[in-house]
Amino acid sequence: MASFDEIIKLLKEPPSIKDLALISKAYKFAEEAHKDQKRFSGEPYFLHLTETAKILAEIGKGPITISAGLLHDSIEDANVLPETIKKEFGEEILFLVEGVTKLGKLRYRGVERYVESLRKLFVAMSQDLRVLIIKLSDRLHNMRTLQYVRKEKQKRIAQETLEIYAPLAYRLGIRKLNRELEDLAFPYVYPEEYEKVKELLKKKHRETIGHLEKLRKSIIKGLTKAGIRDIRTDYRVKGLYSLYQKLLRKNWDIDSVYDLLAVRVIVPTMEDCYRVLGTIHSIWRPLPGRIKDYIAFPKPNGYRSIHTTIFTGDGSIMEIQIRSEEMHKEAEYGVVSHFGYKEKLDLKKITNDSMSWIKQFLPLLSFGERLNKENSTIVSGDVPSWLRELAKIESGKSQHEEFIKEIKADFFKTRIFIFTPKGDVVDLPSDSSPIDFAYAIHSDIGNHLSGAKVNSKLVSLDTKLKNGDIVEIVTKDSAKPTAKWLDLAKTTMAKKHIKTALGDKIKN
Ligand code: MN
Repeated sequence: MASFDEIIKLLKEPPSIKDLALISKAYKFAEEAHKDQKRFSGEPYFLHLTETAKILAEIGKGPITISAGLLHDSIEDANVLPETIKKEFGEEILFLVEGVTKLGKLRYRGVERYVESLRKLFVAMSQDLRVLIIKLSDRLHNMRTLQYVRKEKQKRIAQETLEIYAPLAYRLGIRKLNRELEDLAFPYVYPEEYEKVKELLKKKHRETIGHLEKLRKSIIKGLTKAGIRDIRTDYRVKGLYSLYQKLLRKNWDIDSVYDLLAVRVIVPTMEDCYRVLGTIHSIWRPLPGRIKDYIAFPKPNGYRSIHTTIFTGDGSIMEIQIRSEEMHKEAEYGVVSHFGYKEKLDLKKITNDSMSWIKQFLPLLSFGERLNKENSTIVSGDVPSWLRELAKIESGKSQHEEFIKEIKADFFKTRIFIFTPKGDVVDLPSDSSPIDFAYAIHSDIGNHLSGAKVNSKLVSLDTKLKNGDIVEIVTKDSAKPTAKWLDLAKTTMAKKHIKTALGDKIKN
């Protein structure tokens, strides 16, 4: 079982005998369930499951999620009964496998507006973050093997990856998955642009890599001289898709992209980060306006690091990223790094305010366990991170656009997702009533609303809708809004229509 050993080797903590037994059981079960199936590549289908499990182990997930990863296609593609999974592996693993199966049923229709609600819906539907993480790993392996898929399907899958899965990985702070998903999808969605970016990067890379190696050595020397010895350096090359996005904003001028390659300095503590910054600035002149303190002001997805761009002295300009080991782990693995191997989210570890959005997920985070109220409330006196982001936006338009994108992608803290009987999604504020829903569909429907069914049961109009409710509106020609509706409506749009309708009535 070569791939079994590979999975085990990737585990971040030595597994207990129980963990080993669980993963091994899931491994054998999946191997048997999919034994007659093949992938488009001609390889055994089972390989897809071991590869998915390897990705999960690599990003630090534990035995339960890995086992669910091995079993994630068994219900949908191998006709295994849910009861069998429950009997063999218990309720928690069944819950994860069924979650992934449900997500797989959502289909992409290619309309931008739809993508946005789909993205939100994805999160709303995945009642457990682990479901999303398994789905992201599943998608990553499918992207790695996309060349074997029929040509007509390739672009659709890649586009879906670029518009839904990669942004989700980014929002969860799992840069490692986000980067690879983007770069794998890029050539299928924008083939010409991909070639252009690749050429530009190749040329520039040759130029820059020499400078970079020299600078890295000078940095180590300079910091050592200043008494900062406990450092680790590294460098990163910007992802192709991320470079493409930047080039679009810079009119394809690669010379004005300063973070094509960046030197990373990783130190033990936050205080060390500022000492390193001070030392570097005392040796090299920084570019004005390019110092970004994402430690004091983390990005909305939780990213922390200090970025500065310096004149290296030999005619080149280079970005340096300074962070602690903990920040580095967070930057690569995001929300996953807070679960830990034991798969319990450690709240005390979320000291960073900007990660507090994770707490929005709390009711959804852990299976079969309700967290106490104190833990799940976001301290309201705290300035929300997106507000702080807003305050620090400079005049640059591109930064603004990025911010708007973040906000658009911001998860459903105060939103609920309601379905029409046909399965369309309507996005409303929490505590919305059937009146809001009716007006969100069409003002005529609102104006002639006479009753509502929630999940097939007739309800009164003051019912507070809940995430995932299926709502059917009953209309009558003779029905009209009343003044009381104004108190029941939550959305501005509904209130506006009701006021107009009431005004008309008075006039008549
Ligand atoms: Mn799969």
